[in-house]
Amino acid sequence: MSTDKKILILPGDGIGPEVMTQVRRVMDWFEKKHSLGFKVTEGLVGGASYDVHGVPLTDSTLAQALDADAVLFGAVGGPQYDDLPFDKKPERGLLALRKEMQLYANLRPAIVFEAMTDASALKPDVVSGLDILILRELTGGVYFGEPRGISDLPDGQRKGVNTQVYTTNEILRIAKVAFELARKRGSKVCSTEKSNVMESGLLWREEVQKLRDADYTDIDLSHMYADNCAMQLVREPKQFDVILTDNLFGDMLSDLAAACTGSLGMLPSASLGDPDAQGRRRGLYEPVHGSAPDITGQNKANPIAMILSYAMMLRYSFDLGEQADMVENAVKNVLNSGVRTPDIMGPGTAKVSTSTMGDALLRELDKS
Ligand code: NAD
Repeated sequence: MSTDKKILILPGDGIGPEVMTQVRRVMDWFEKKHSLGFKVTEGLVGGASYDVHGVPLTDSTLAQALDADAVLFGAVGGPQYDDLPFDKKPERGLLALRKEMQLYANLRPAIVFEAMTDASALKPDVVSGLDILILRELTGGVYFGEPRGISDLPDGQRKGVNTQVYTTNEILRIAKVAFELARKRGSKVCSTEKSNVMESGLLWREEVQKLRDADYTDIDLSHMYADNCAMQLVREPKQFDVILTDNLFGDMLSDLAAACTGSLGMLPSASLGDPDAQGRRRGLYEPVHGSAPDITGQNKANPIAMILSYAMMLRYSFDLGEQADMVENAVKNVLNSGVRTPDIMGPGTAKVSTSTMGDALLRELDKS
């Protein structure tokens, strides 16, 4: 099943390279045992790129990302880069990639593995079996809207302005992704906005409903104000299947949903663009966590978020659902066996290092 698909690997900074090493082992396993090979290249991003090239993302790395079928991204940042000007900061590398690759759809699954039910801050019966997907619009809304800025007023005050703005097309393309994803899950979409107080929210609600009525009558669509959605996520998160949200509300709701699952080291994400003429959809896959400078170089990082991001890449960029299931089942079985990195330790579990967690995952894959 060897393919000519191209993957660009950008491990980045801090624990990024440590968790990516474990993904490389899983990729090697698939190549050896299932002849699933990709054309893999590796590059520098973030602080690692700044150290060598003086910029967080070079033109040549960006060109490689645009040419790749998928990008696997570790994490960027670290205290040694805190005083750099904004355009040189490691995080700029990631933002530039998202922008240039036009990744407007951010998928964040919030899944609670049975063995991890106790790790959530919520009651076990509220989160047990939780499996929801937050779909956040990533390139529009108030973070990019014009006018924006800080100005001086004649009376000596200052004024800060940001603009929440969405066009029909921006709403429709993300809503379409939500409906398509829901079809592969529970066929339910809950669209969130603040149409009670914002015109942009009212437009969002109307356009999402129109698209559903025209092309997705099989989808059970509901609408919810974003503030109520935040409350419902804590009260009864299992009522949701896919939550569709804009950039600003999605930023908060996705972090809230993440908190329901208990650990940052377990959360994968995918950012997708539009399919091109050949049906190829750009995708960047990364763990939700950052570079974790406090544990860098100690072989303590949990590689599961990175490995689950790789599983998302198999599923969404390469339509390899069976192989993605294999990876996710291996994670589930390892957790059930009580093997844990320090961040997800619980009573009666065994503490292991990053690389030993990788060993355990490969052993589970061997059994599949
Ligand atoms: P962080 O996610 O790096 O760490 C927060 C806490 O979670 C730390 O205690 C860390 O040890 C722990 N943690 C994170 N991932 C873990 C893992 N896989 N296994 C075990 N423990 C884990 O967030 P932060 O401390 O706010 O930021 C550190 C740096 O990362 C900053 O420079 C920040 O800008 C950057 N950052 C980058 C990204 C990204 O690359 N997408 C995202 C968030 C933060």
